[in-house]
Amino acid sequence: MSAPRLEVDLDRIEANAASLVAQLEPLGITVTGVTKATVGSPAVAAAMRRGGVAGLGDSRVENLAGLRHAGVEGALTLIRSPMASQVAAVVGVADRSCNTEPVVLDRLSAAAVAQRTTHGVVLMVELGDLREGIAAADVVDAARHVLGQPGLALAGLGTNLACQSGVVPDQAKMDELSHLVERVETALGVELPVVSGGNSANLTWALSTVDAGRVNDLRLGEAILLGCEPLDRRPLAGLRTDAFRLVAEVIEVKTKPARPWGTIGQAAFGTAPLRTGRRPIRQALLALGRQDVDPDGVVPPAGTTVLGASSDHLVLDLGDVEAAVGDELAFGVDYSALVRAMTSPFVTTVHHAAGLVVVPA
Ligand SMILES: *Cc1c(COP(=O)(O)O)cnc(C)c1O
Repeated sequence: MSAPRLEVDLDRIEANAASLVAQLEPLGITVTGVTKATVGSPAVAAAMRRGGVAGLGDSRVENLAGLRHAGVEGALTLIRSPMASQVAAVVGVADRSCNTEPVVLDRLSAAAVAQRTTHGVVLMVELGDLREGIAAADVVDAARHVLGQPGLALAGLGTNLACQSGVVPDQAKMDELSHLVERVETALGVELPVVSGGNSANLTWALSTVDAGRVNDLRLGEAILLGCEPLDRRPLAGLRTDAFRLVAEVIEVKTKPARPWGTIGQAAFGTAPLRTGRRPIRQALLALGRQDVDPDGVVPPAGTTVLGASSDHLVLDLGDVEAAVGDELAFGVDYSALVRAMTSPFVTTVHHAAGLVVVPA
């Protein structure tokens, strides 16, 4: 099989989804499985669906189109505000989208009318993380605006924390979202069926709260895929953290002097990594670089250490581990490494499920 390749264990993804769905169900919270880190992989989406997620979300309309095309079932939500230039595609592919801008809402409505459909809208509220969101004081007006559009249906409110500024989605923030839901319902005489409380960073709150308030959905990507929550990248109890592994091939193995020699300037990607040891290093070069993965996000095989990486090479201190030219070594990935590997044209993706190996065409 070709290298580098990202091996995806679909059974582990399904199990992670099932565990989270079961833990959130007693709180009345459903899961929207977020596929964006896998570039909208239909195989991953289907595994999430087998695990019981209610619907699927992705930040890119192209990825949602791929899921539709592949026949994956469940409601599809565009979780990034649509580009004004893409409203026709968004309405054609997504059941609903997350929104903050009146101009985009107007265009979505016009596109929905033209396509003889109704597009669902989740209005995103700014609760302090300072990425997307309508100011709390403006939410009722924005909701009224949606209700006045013939092509739109107001699905509900949502918020997103922890992504831009690391603001923690705690009880106070979720209570604030619930209060805004009630304020909109009272002011406009409507009922909001969807209250989308946030992303994987909400799990610490959700799995410990005694009162989820009106929050009834979470958009979960990282927790399902990598089994950890993003606030301090702590593994979540009962979840698999090894659904993905990146396999790369060794292209050189040599014992090299402890220190570089000559006049030292900048390396290809800024300051050269320090080699502070005194002993020669048994070093392996892998055909894996920054064009394939974020080298800061890989977990090397036990007993080895990453010494650095450039565009096309990863340098590994082998320690006492045996490796020869032509061998393959497997690395764990964090979210950043996963995204880079999934989007690199040089990395093949191979899906495994219950003994079955599926290489996408
Ligand atoms: C990426 C994203 C998510 C999913 O985040 P995870 O940390 O992967 O769970 C949810 N909502 C929005 C708006 C996002 O951009």
